[in-house]
Formats: sequence, structure tokens, C-alpha cells
Amino acid sequence: MSDETAPWASPTARDRMALVASEIQNLSPEGVAETVRRALRAHARQFDTEGIVLYAGTNVMSTAARAVVDPVVGGRPSMGWPGEKYQSGLDHLDTLEVLAPTLVARMLGCRFAEVRCHSATMANLAVYTALTEPGDTIAVLPERAGGHTSHHAVGAPGVRGLRVVDLPYDAAAHDVDLAALGPFLERERPRLVVIGASLLLFPHDVAAIAAAVHAAGALLLYDASHMAGLVAAGRFQRPLAEGADVLTFSTYKSFGGPPGGVIATDDAALAERLSTAVFPGLTANYDASRLAPLAITAAEVMADGGGYADRCVAAARTLAAALAAEGFTLAGAGRGFTESHHLAVDAAALGGGRAAMDRLAAAGIYLSAIGLPWQAPGEPDRGLRIGTQEVVRRGFGPDDLRRTAALMGDVLLRGAAPGPIRKSAVHLRREIAHRALG
Ligand SMILES: *Cc1c(COP(=O)(O)O)cnc(C)c1O
Repeated sequence: MSDETAPWASPTARDRMALVASEIQNLSPEGVAETVRRALRAHARQFDTEGIVLYAGTNVMSTAARAVVDPVVGGRPSMGWPGEKYQSGLDHLDTLEVLAPTLVARMLGCRFAEVRCHSATMANLAVYTALTEPGDTIAVLPERAGGHTSHHAVGAPGVRGLRVVDLPYDAAAHDVDLAALGPFLERERPRLVVIGASLLLFPHDVAAIAAAVHAAGALLLYDASHMAGLVAAGRFQRPLAEGADVLTFSTYKSFGGPPGGVIATDDAALAERLSTAVFPGLTANYDASRLAPLAITAAEVMADGGGYADRCVAAARTLAAALAAEGFTLAGAGRGFTESHHLAVDAAALGGGRAAMDRLAAAGIYLSAIGLPWQAPGEPDRGLRIGTQEVVRRGFGPDDLRRTAALMGDVLLRGAAPGPIRKSAVHLRREIAHRALG
């Protein structure tokens, strides 16, 4: 047995893992059970109960969605379409297997939804598998403009053997450089163009991008992993109606469902290729336990009429304005900061995104660093990315958001020690939780 989990990891990671390993040595079976329980309890307390979670790529499911999560179902492989499955005895899962994609497609206002991907990364790999051949070129958003790992050569496109080129980007417009796009596509001849970013403050000009992409004989994928909660509610933008050929997204970020990925399209021929790439291409057991909470979440989004999405966007604007008033430098300041639930702080003057993130974590405020479109090549992530989807679910109102901004100002602008600020953060969470209980 190796005495190290990942000897190839960075020194920082190896130090941390060695410390953890030293605490879990030679455990009896009871010791393992107790260690697991303690870790889960401590995690729930730190993150769910006491933390102010501003991390954009997460959420909490609704009570109703959580109530139908049944891990036993996840271990029942259910392969192929209802009526012709490889396994017998799973007739009642047919209901979920028809209900979930039907509701997701209705919610999106599109014809086809493939919901069996375990993640958006896998959904994107399925799109590459269906719509490209190894050696093809795809064009994606640069990383500093929020292009995700699953768009870049280090991720899923590399697995498919694709050549990946960065789209021309207009940092001032927060979008693809439309003037440069036509000549770029002419030169690079991509089979597929991918838009939709991990930080998206303003909608893409999908119609103009799609027109150029289609004129060049390529297809357009819009990755709405982060925007799904807004897009599903008919807010922010309607990528398929505006001209994208395929939509993918994560179901656990702003959408607020179980972890998983969705692929959606209006094109029947594309739908068949995409679906076949998922099964039998990339899945056997796909974890059917995700279908029930996914169906419940989709039904809730439709019944909600966009209320949650609107509150998330309003909260992002409130928090951004409060942070600007504290003295932070905000992205998109000239355009009202944001039109989504995302906002971003330029943390270059605060020691960079990573240092600011670590300092806030010590104060019980959790988020992530991210690259910003105007950072220099090779410069470490200079931004802090914030999403309001979780704090809105937790009941944060405008005053709570302003208090959060003040705590962030204390820690990052006024040199306050994180420890005492963490006490204030926990206090704020308690107050909000009590208020929610009425
Ligand atoms: C988070 C993210 C993904 C990956 O989602 P997973 O479901 O975690 O695999 C893909 N694309 C974008 C743009 C993302 O931000």
C-alpha cells in the first residue's frame, strides 16, 4: 500500500493530505464509522449551518427535492429505453425516466432533454463525442473569460483528441469579439463553437454569434452550467431560441437540483446522436436516483414563475453595489455590475484572488478565485467570483447582503483579523435562520 494518497500533487496539497492521513491511521471498522460521522457533522456545521456560501458553483436542494433522494435507487442500473431495458423489474423507474426529461424539456421550452449524464463535464464530452471527430477543431472562450476546463484541451476535448482554439474576446463588451469572429472562423474552421462561461455577468449575443458560426458551417453549443437557474426560469437569455444548436448545463449550481448534467436541443437528428453518445457511449449505470429530485426541481422552477431567479439577480446587484460602496473594485461597474446572479471583484490590489479567497474563508465566507478577462497572460486569477443563488435560498435579504459586504470589507480592506469576523458571520447566519423559522 502506498503511504501517500497522491505523491504527484503539489507540496501544499501533499502537506495537507499527510496531516489528514496522520489523523486517520489504523482505524478499526468502528473507528472508520465514527471518523466518517464526525467529518460529515463538522462539514455540515462549518459550511451549511454557519458558513456564508457565496461560491457560485453550488446550491442547496429544496426540502421537497431532498425528500425524494433515495441512494438505493442509484445502485439499480437501468440501461436502455423503457420497454427494452437490459434489466427486468424496473418498470416503476420508467415513470421517472420519462417524467424527468419531459419536465426538463418543457421547462426549457425545447423538444429534447437528455438527463442521464452524471455531470456537465460528461454532457460536454457527449456533445464532443456526437458532433466532432478526433483531430477536429473546436473554438471556446479563453480561460480568463470563464472558459471552463471541460471546454479546454486539459479536459474533455483532450479526451476526444480535439484541437482547441480560443475565441476572440472583447473584454470591454464582456462577450465574444463579434467583429473578429467571422475572419477567425474562416481561418480556424472549427466544427463546434462553445460559449457560456463559469463567470457570466451579461448575456452573450447568441443571435449574432450563431449567425457567424452557422455561416462558417459550424454548430454552436451554449454551456449554461452556471446560468441554468436563470435560463430555466426564462430569465437572462434563451440560448436555444436565440440560435444555439445545443444547450448543456449542470443541475446542481444555480438550478438547485441534484448533481448531474443535461443536454438539450430542438433538433431531432442532433438529439439522437447526443443521446446515443450518452448511452451506450459514456454511461452504463447513470444513477437513476438523480431523476426524482431533478423532476421535483424542474416542476418547482416552472411553478415559481421566475421569482427565485429574479431574487438571485436582484441580490447580486445589491451585493455588488454594497461591495463597491465598501471600496472594492467590481467588474461590470459601468453596466450596473451584472445581469445574472454572478458578480466579480477585481482583487489584484488585495494580493490576488486566491489570497483574498483564503482570507475570507478564515472569516467563514466561502467563494472562489477566478480569472478576469483583462488579466495579463500568465497572471494568476485576479478575481473573486460570487454567486447569490445559495444565500437567496438561505433567506438573505438586502440588509443581510449589505452586512455581508461590510464583513468582507473589514477582512479585505480594513485589515480586521478573520477570527472575530467569523463570529459575526456565524451570528448573521443564526439571525437569518431564526427569522426564517418565524
Ligand atoms: C461548473 C461547470 C461545468 C462542469 O460542471 P460539472 O457538472 O461539475 O461537471 C461545465 N461548464 C461550465 C461552464 C461550468 O461552469
